This record gives sequence, structure tokens and C-alpha cells, in this order.
Amino acid sequence: MLLRIQADTDPALLTALAAHLAEKHVRTERIGDVLLLSGDTWALDAALLQALPFAADVQRTESPCPLASREQHGENTVISVGNAAFGRDFVLIAGPCAVESEEQIRAAARAVKQAGGQVLRGGAFKPRTSPYVFQGLGAEGIRLLVRAGHEAGLPVVTEITDPSQLPLFDGVDILQVGARNMQNYELLRCLGKTDRPILLKRGLSATLTEFLLSAEYLLKEGNSRVILCERGIRTFETETRATLDVAAIPLLKKATHLPVIVDPSHAAGQAFLVPPLALAAAAAGAGGLMVEMHPQPRSARSDARQALSAEDLALLSRQIRALLPALP
Ligand code: PEP
Ligand code: MN
Repeated sequence: MLLRIQADTDPALLTALAAHLAEKHVRTERIGDVLLLSGDTWALDAALLQALPFAADVQRTESPCPLASREQHGENTVISVGNAAFGRDFVLIAGPCAVESEEQIRAAARAVKQAGGQVLRGGAFKPRTSPYVFQGLGAEGIRLLVRAGHEAGLPVVTEITDPSQLPLFDGVDILQVGARNMQNYELLRCLGKTDRPILLKRGLSATLTEFLLSAEYLLKEGNSRVILCERGIRTFETETRATLDVAAIPLLKKATHLPVIVDPSHAAGQAFLVPPLALAAAAAGAGGLMVEMHPQPRSARSDARQALSAEDLALLSRQIRALLPALP
């Protein structure tokens, strides 16, 4: 249940209300101008709460994700980062799987800018399946990414895999939570306390409700700037790296006010599949794409098979821009 309160409400009144509700086994949590009531809320009389002098609005919610749900928040949440407005305009994020060197990330940044991309990606702390392969440049990778982004006039996104890394992420515009960490609740709680936009990727075998509940962890801690990213899920098919869940796009857009983007690269696993999946995602209503590209795809130190070249990216970007005006 949500009780929206007036912004200038005396905190003493809220403390008294919380104590009163606690006796009825209802927990109260304040998130901005909203009191989130949980527990035995079925026993509460909404009309009595509405009559409180500081109450702006009372809503019962059926959703397990009251903060992420559209039930409570009909309008799209718009998250502005540099020239990108997630939730309003289509956003193209592109860059290498991993930052490998200064020359590589600078060349990638120039290519992304030239292709009309709005955000530069590049992994520094890489969650690799094998511990014997390139693990990313860590702090040095972040430094190179931020500098390349600044030079090209692009904000940057990179993955954080542990709360202890946060001090190293100064200058990073968007913090990415990878598929493997979608249910790392300590990480989510910690990032929910920051004021940085979070790009949350769907877990490899997460249902949409589990995905939204992970977003709820971030929102509940007070961070309202959460971008959802569908990136394919595990199925029995082995021709693709994952199966892009195209239906997740309209389903998520219906369920939540948060921006929904798609990463076709990790679903595809092969470069030739990336453009068709990207176009399918855009046609299905994705609010943006995150695409892996590399100035020299064949020499990429991670995910080389799925990396687009600069030319492939420029072509895909043109195709997307041609498609968007035709969509409802
Ligand atoms: C990535 O985007 O760098 C990545 C590792 O993707 P995912 O977490 O979706 O596997
Ligand atoms: Mn990758």
C-alpha cells in the first residue's frame, strides 16, 4: 500500500503514524514523498489514511513491485544522461565488451559518436565464465573509458560487480549490473543508495517478475533512476548464445514505468545475428539498444564473435533510424 504525503510533512507526525501502524503489524518506509506500507495492510482503512491532514493520496497495490509498477506511476520515467533521455527518446549505447587499451577505447568512442550513439560502453570488471581468460583492466579500464568518453562527448556505462568497487567508479555516468548479478541483493541495496543511474540486466534465467523485483531493491533504497535491459535468457537452443525474449519488451513496458532497452549482442553470440535482433527489438518497442562493437572485431579479447565493426554499427544505426518513424 502506498501513502503519498505532502513534501513539507512534519517528521514527528510520520514517526507517530509509524508507531501506530507498527501496533497493527504494518511496516512503514519512507521513499521520498511516498510511505510504503507493508505487512498486514489488508486491515487498514484507506479512507482513514486519506483523511490524515498530510496525506496527498492513498493507493492499494496488487503488484509485488509497488515502486516499479505502472499501477502507481502511469507516466514513463525519463532518465537523462548527457544527450540521452531514456524512457523518452531511443538511445543507442555501443562500445567494446571490454576496455583493452587506450587506442582501442578511443577508436571505439569515435566510432560510436560517428554512428550517432549517445552512450559509450566498455567493461572493466568483467564477469567471465572461465577464470583463465581476460578478466578486464579493472580500475585502469574505468579511467581509460571515462577519458575516451569525455573526449568524444559521450557519457559512459560500465559494470560494477561488487560494492567495494564503487570508489573506483567516479566519472562513470551509468552503473551496470550484469545478468549474473541481477540477484546479488547486497550489490543492489548498495547501488540503490547511490544517486547514479543503474542499468540492470535481466538474469540468464530470471522471470520478468524476478527481474522487476530486483529493480524494486534499487528503487526501495531511494534510487529512482533504473533502466531495465533484456539480454536474452537460457533456453534449450544452442545456436544462439541466449534466446532474445522479444515478448519481454511489451510485457515490461506494460508492467513498469521504467525505461526498457535491449542488448542483442549477448543474446546473439554472433555478429551477423546482432542487426536482425536489434531491429526486432526496436520494432517491438525497445527504448534503446546496447550493442557490442570493436574497432578490430577479430582481435577482441572478449566476445570477439559477437562484436560489430565500426562500419556494421554505423549501418545498423542508420537502419534503426529509418525504422523508428514507421513504428506506432
Ligand atoms: C556485458 O554487458 O558486458 C555483459 C557481461 O552482459 P551480461 O551481464 O548481460 O552477460
Ligand atoms: Mn560481452
